[in-house]
Amino acid sequence: MKLLLASRNAKKLRELQRIVVAEGLDGIEVLSLSDVPEFPEAPETAPDFEGNALAKARDAAAATGLVSVADDSGLAVDELNGMPGVLSARWSGKHGDDDANLDLLLGQLGDVPDERRGAAFVSVVAMVVPGGEEVVVRGEWRGTLLRARRGTGGFGYDPIFVPEGYEITSAEMTPEEKDAESHRGRALKLLVPYLRKLG
Ligand code: IMP
Repeated sequence: MKLLLASRNAKKLRELQRIVVAEGLDGIEVLSLSDVPEFPEAPETAPDFEGNALAKARDAAAATGLVSVADDSGLAVDELNGMPGVLSARWSGKHGDDDANLDLLLGQLGDVPDERRGAAFVSVVAMVVPGGEEVVVRGEWRGTLLRARRGTGGFGYDPIFVPEGYEITSAEMTPEEKDAESHRGRALKLLVPYLRKLG
């Protein structure tokens, strides 16, 4: 069975493929948007991760007729009442400018004491069967935020995020270590029972 990941992000594609292999879901072949004819992709305008993930998966399922999976993720900072949240990728006003987003957040948290620097990475993954079942799962990864960058791996806010139970940032972890613990890894694992029913 073909499963479409409604994303062009090669890292997300490989992560889903690794989980499908690790779980022995041999009947599932994971495709990305690069493998299907182009269709108009709706902008991410929902106020929550669930709404964005579901909209992307629904659009992809309707356009291609394939079972489709989509995710939306971000960093929810306690002291900022859950922001940047769905605005994580464009917090500084420019979509995907990781450096500017991180600098802005560090500035905003400049006066926040160490004991109030908690945050969580959140990943919501939606799966839509064309004309049928819809599933939404949520993975969270809690940690605290540093005052300066450490590490060169990962992307986005990884250089200032120290996961609970660790003393290194998620930018100092190997990709395998991060996959095993991360919000996206957790959400994808929650999806496995549903994938097993399909595949
Ligand atoms: P999207 O879900 O690909 O749109 O990502 C949203 C944004 O959330 C990214 O641009 C990053 O700023 C942030 N983000 C999501 N996941 C991670 C992560 O694993 N590490 C660091 N930043 C992340």
